[in-house]
Amino acid sequence: MATPEADIEAGTRRDLVGMSREEMGRALAGLGLPAFRTKQVWHWIYCRGATEFDAMTTLAKPLRRLLAERFAISRPIVSKAQVSADRTRKWLVAFADGSEAETVFIPEEDRGALCVSSQVGCTLNCSFCHTGTQPWVRNLTAGEIVGQAMLARDALGEWPTAANGQRLLSNIVLMGMGEPLYNYDNVVKAMKIVMDMEGIAISRRRITLSTAGVVPRIADVGRDLGVRLAISLHAVTDELRDELVPLNRRYPIADLLAACRDYPGGRNARRITFEYAMLKGVNDSEADARALVRLVRGIPAKMNLIPFNPWPGAPYECSTPKAIERFAAIVNRAGYASPVRTPRGRDILAACGQLKSDSVRVRARAG
Ligand code: SAH
Repeated sequence: MATPEADIEAGTRRDLVGMSREEMGRALAGLGLPAFRTKQVWHWIYCRGATEFDAMTTLAKPLRRLLAERFAISRPIVSKAQVSADRTRKWLVAFADGSEAETVFIPEEDRGALCVSSQVGCTLNCSFCHTGTQPWVRNLTAGEIVGQAMLARDALGEWPTAANGQRLLSNIVLMGMGEPLYNYDNVVKAMKIVMDMEGIAISRRRITLSTAGVVPRIADVGRDLGVRLAISLHAVTDELRDELVPLNRRYPIADLLAACRDYPGGRNARRITFEYAMLKGVNDSEADARALVRLVRGIPAKMNLIPFNPWPGAPYECSTPKAIERFAAIVNRAGYASPVRTPRGRDILAACGQLKSDSVRVRARAG
């Protein structure tokens, strides 16, 4: 990592957003500042939503100036904001290098979930997912992941974070663009910042990480974060899952479910969510429903049935309401909650699997 001196010589200011508390402590100690300054600056950035040092009125003006010379407090930029008829909001978010990802806010009555992207593009190429049709670009940094939560708080007017307050942005789901477990270190770092109770303060019980099944990382998530786990299952045979979620060729269903059985959250009341996109004539038969129930037996689980969300050129159709109802009933009778996820924000392509940006890899573009 570059030293502060090197940064200053190069004329760059280091971004405080995305640093762990320890890193911020070291960065400020590098200026000779005592530890309580880190606490103050952290508070201004993550409780108050300060975007400039001049707003930090508990610091003397010369100190604010010094910090502004050395450091930045950056936010990604919203390059396009859309609101769905059902009030779902979608932001096209631009990062410093110009690449873009999408962030979606799904409001409920008195709370709401922010769907955060972890990568620009995705390497998995699931056959029913729109993001898979765009080229892989890059991992997001921890600051860019946290930045999505911060710009949502900006847009919702939810700074400062009230200690006891009920906030609209109450939950985070890592279900946007990308595979969070293929950007493991940055995702973990970002979620630790988000979970810090003297900051954005969203607890691990209100965070859900969704994975297509990067098996060797699942135990790590349990150990490092302990957030809720969601698994994009979508099929009950390896043959079909190989086709829908090509990652299955590397980590087949049996290995995936074994990892779920061992997930620490699974042993107590925190059930694992299995996501299952309902694809007409592909995975939605009654036999599929019965096989699903047999597969997950013994895992404290909830099935999230997602009516397939169409996108331009998609090779699938959504199951009929009747097929979804029959499927849900079988799963339900077996003792599993099987909520059918109401599509949100379909009119602005903000629903599950509809996210896409025009970003391309700089190298690919140059070529
Ligand atoms: N890569 C992670 C995070 C993405 S979450 C993962 O795969 O879990 C996005 C969820 O929406 C996943 O469950 C994905 O399988 C699902 N999905 C993708 N395309 C969809 C579509 N067109 N309709 C409904 N769900 C879809």
